[in-house]
Order: sequence, then C-alpha cells, then structure tokens
Amino acid sequence: MIRCPDCGAEIDVDEDEVEEGEILSCPECESELEVTQTHPVHVNPISDDLDDEDEEEDDEVEEEEEDEEDLEEEEDDEEEEE
Ligand SMILES: [Zn+2]
Repeated sequence: MIRCPDCGAEIDVDEDEVEEGEILSCPECESELEVTQTHPVHVNPISDDLDDEDEEEDDEVEEEEEDEEDLEEEEDDEEEEE
C-alpha cells in the first residue's frame, strides 16, 4: 500500500507486482507516478519539471526545521515567566 504524493489517496500496490521504473496512475487524481523503489514501494510523481529529486530533499529540510521550532518555543516560555 502506498500513498499518492499528490493527493494522499491510498493506492493498493503489491510490491511483488511492480518494478522500478514502472508508471502507475493514481485512481483519485490521475497523476502519473513512477516507481523509484520496491520493497517497500516508493513512487515519485511525474511532473513537467522533472524535479523529483528536489522534492525528496525538501522533505529532509522540513524535519530539521521542525526541531528548531521546538527549541524556540521553549525559550519563549522562559521569557514569559520572568
Ligand atoms: Zn492522487
């Protein structure tokens, strides 16, 4: 089971039945998804810009930013107490 990166719809895909490079289409939004990995299945949306790799990098950056936000919130609480 994978999720459409575009609309988040669940797509029932058997990892034994797909191959890397295979093109799937989302039943919900009909966007084309390329299988980039199996076991587990991972797909990238096929866009006109072909910037699939950039999107993966964005995900990693987002996680780091979340950690920084948590630290900032703690500092704000201390200032309010004084
Ligand atoms: Zn979709």
